Amino acid sequence: MKIGVLAIQGDFEAHAKMLERLGVEYVYVRTPEDLKGLDGLILPGGESTTHMKLLAETGLEEAVREMAAKGGALFGTCAGAILMARDVKAPEQESLGLMDMTVVRNAYGRQLSSDVFLLPTKLKSEPLEMVFIRAPQIEKVGAGVKVLAERDGKPVLVEQGRMMAATFHPELTEDTTIHERFLKLARNGKKPG
Ligand code: GLN
Repeated sequence: MKIGVLAIQGDFEAHAKMLERLGVEYVYVRTPEDLKGLDGLILPGGESTTHMKLLAETGLEEAVREMAAKGGALFGTCAGAILMARDVKAPEQESLGLMDMTVVRNAYGRQLSSDVFLLPTKLKSEPLEMVFIRAPQIEKVGAGVKVLAERDGKPVLVEQGRMMAATFHPELTEDTTIHERFLKLARNGKKPG
């Protein structure tokens, strides 16, 4: 199995370290060619407007959409979750639009925007440490989206088919549960190309 980590801006190295710890082969993705043979792709945190601009400029926007359409597994964290959403607010902006959800950028306000919480998930019995950094909020999800964790009644970890999104940063903690979940999605699917 081979996983790609989008490496055009943001905290892609932390995801790579996590994959290394899990003993998974990975490549940094910067061009459409880098997607060849991948079982899954991680869209890291960073600045979603910058990511979207660079995705369009490099041709990756179309290539990632194609990968998703062919059944490749995708996992977006924070800015990556914004890219995954069908609708983005505050301000409205372009996204890859792969998951049936509405996301509000920088939704927690100045005081609450960056913080660490211990919250329950549907993935294991103990709560998980979740690091929020100028996090977006998932305002609404469609019927096909499974909510795996919430903060204040709003989803923070969601799954739809072979796609996952987290509004926090699982790559910044020691716990590998969430990445392992994503690897399971990637492993269960067919290679997209
Ligand atoms: N605030 C960023 C955005 O709106 C996301 C922050 C992050 O990825 N840590 O794009």
